[in-house]
Amino acid sequence: MNYQHVTVAGGGVLGSQIAMQTAYFGYDVTLYDISEEAIAQAKERTAALNEPYRQDLKATDEQLQAAHERLTYTSDLAEAVKEADLVIEAIPEVITIKVDFYKKIATLAPEYTVFVTNTSTLLPSQFAEATGRPEKFLALHFANHIWRNNTAEVMGHEGTEQKYFDEVVHFAQSIGMVALPLYKEQPGYILNSLLVPLLDAAEMLYVNEVADPETIDKTWMIGTGAPLGPFAILDIVGIKTAYNIVQMKAEATKNDNYIRLAQLLKERYIDQGKLGRETGEGFYKYPNPSFAHPEFLK
Ligand code: NAD
Repeated sequence: MNYQHVTVAGGGVLGSQIAMQTAYFGYDVTLYDISEEAIAQAKERTAALNEPYRQDLKATDEQLQAAHERLTYTSDLAEAVKEADLVIEAIPEVITIKVDFYKKIATLAPEYTVFVTNTSTLLPSQFAEATGRPEKFLALHFANHIWRNNTAEVMGHEGTEQKYFDEVVHFAQSIGMVALPLYKEQPGYILNSLLVPLLDAAEMLYVNEVADPETIDKTWMIGTGAPLGPFAILDIVGIKTAYNIVQMKAEATKNDNYIRLAQLLKERYIDQGKLGRETGEGFYKYPNPSFAHPEFLK
């Protein structure tokens, strides 16, 4: 089935990008959020995407205007899903909020509607039952800045029907994504299954004073030909996010390395306002970080 009407639930960081990208590629998109205030913020977010679309996709004013005209906003859930072919859920990463949302749309959406979740850390099998249509439910996971970092990891659970999986792969490609199918459920999908252990290992080398961040990055960049090392990546992720993850691990494991790492990130970076690229400084100083200079690799 070719989708025409797509509903994006949640107009936050990711939802606003998904809605804009889907409208830009010609679909009629309804963006749902919980309140008029949240809708106003979502509108600001989609409007703010014009500039990066001009820069990165060479979007013309006509194309951008047409995309915005295909976008409608509502805080009425029944209205939002009543003729959706596809609902893309990008609401907070909180199990109870998501379960509650799926239970509601299970009865509000037409029987033919396919649901996908953009969850980063949870699994579709956790929500399959609540959707009331497990065969038409799977994960479609985007990366932040989806128009540029255009990966779309497609991951079903055991009860997902292949037909709907294939439709979602096709949809992802139709909005300019590189669709990356997974054969089975995997926490963290492919990207984070690779990235999280890399960042973790780099942080352990640092907290155990084996080497400094620049040397660790340099080793990775020269040794693998990668354009960025793990600490440059952490600056993009944001040091606050990195800290939250480390803090959770520290609490869960009581491991001394994580406890010391959380303290180090807080004292040396967060308390100094060095939150990564977003604030102009993290492990590196921007806009001209040392790792971008040719001498860095010598
Ligand atoms: P966010 O906090 O920026 O946005 C969440 C939005 O959901 C807000 O606009 C909020 O008003 C709305 N919301 C809250 N409760 C709701 C409800 N009951 N129904 C509908 N909308 C509701 O979050 P985000 O960063 O956009 O993340 C959303 C999802 O996308 C999460 O599952 C997250 O794991 C995933 N994700 C995030 C990123 C990222 O880099 N931020 C990347 C990939 C995937």
